[in-house]
Amino acid sequence: MATIIDGKKIAEVFCEQMKERTLKLKRHGVNPHIALINVGNDPASSVYVAKKEKLAATMGILSTVHKFDDSIDENDLITLIKKLNIDKEVHAILLQSPLPQNFQFRKLVNLIDPRKDVDGLTTMNQGRLFAGEPGVVPCTPLGVLHLLRTVREQIAGLHAIVLGRSSIVGRPLSQLLLNANCTVTLLHSYSQDLKSICKTADILVSAMGKPLFIDKEFIKPGAIVIDVGVNRIESNGSKKIVGDVVFDAVSEFAAAITPVPNGVGPMTVAYLMHNTLNLACCH
Ligand code: NAP
Repeated sequence: MATIIDGKKIAEVFCEQMKERTLKLKRHGVNPHIALINVGNDPASSVYVAKKEKLAATMGILSTVHKFDDSIDENDLITLIKKLNIDKEVHAILLQSPLPQNFQFRKLVNLIDPRKDVDGLTTMNQGRLFAGEPGVVPCTPLGVLHLLRTVREQIAGLHAIVLGRSSIVGRPLSQLLLNANCTVTLLHSYSQDLKSICKTADILVSAMGKPLFIDKEFIKPGAIVIDVGVNRIESNGSKKIVGDVVFDAVSEFAAAITPVPNGVGPMTVAYLMHNTLNLACCH
């Protein structure tokens, strides 16, 4: 049976370690501050923003939520981002995704000053990661790497397969794994023969948003399986959150596996705080 990678507990320990950094910054007169921009009425986004606010509060990090409904004029959003960019009291800016359909996420995110781009989503920070230069790295991939290292410190030379190529998870994660000297395969919806390719993975990360897609037939015995997917499904008349991976069946073959919930999710929020502190340090 696989080791269960307890993301909730690992995130708690990590956050506890980071509290000292917050205190140090405050002793130097810096009050770390993240601005969270939430547009529209997506219930999942509201839950994520509330979690971010709550964790920031417990870590002594100031958070300000800028909440708008989807009727907000895009120009007002642009004005807000520009204002936050020059506000010396704000160190980190997050534009919560997804945005309602009438907004262009890439256009708006690129208005964020790369020095305040806490989720590393501006083209500038994505390019730096691609080039192997220092910059802000997206939180979820950082969290995935952290979880991996709790079960396998040396990952160089392993075959890592990432399912999903979004700019928020799959692409930056494949770069991080490459930088860690893994052999990396990045799969997407046009990839063929997924099962047999996945069966060659020492590390399998699924970030597709396809509920219970990955069953035991995709798994090489002894692989480490990280499930980034968060999918809301109906089960026996009630709503339930599941990952991309069939947890019980895959646990029988994998060496280690993350659950959903309480796997990658808490690490994403923890790394948002980590990145905020980094940005506050070098403001
Ligand atoms: P996304 O932008 O929708 O990207 C999904 C990716 O999966 C795309 O690259 C897509 O390929 C690929 N894909 C979809 N169906 C596939 C299939 N049948 N076979 C192979 N590849 C397939 O999603 P995202 O924003 O990266 O998020 C992915 C999942 O992770 C979602 O469930 C999301 O809720 C979750 N998530 C969780 C966290 C966390 O903290 N736990 C953070 C972020 C996201 P194409 O590019 O070809 O379309």
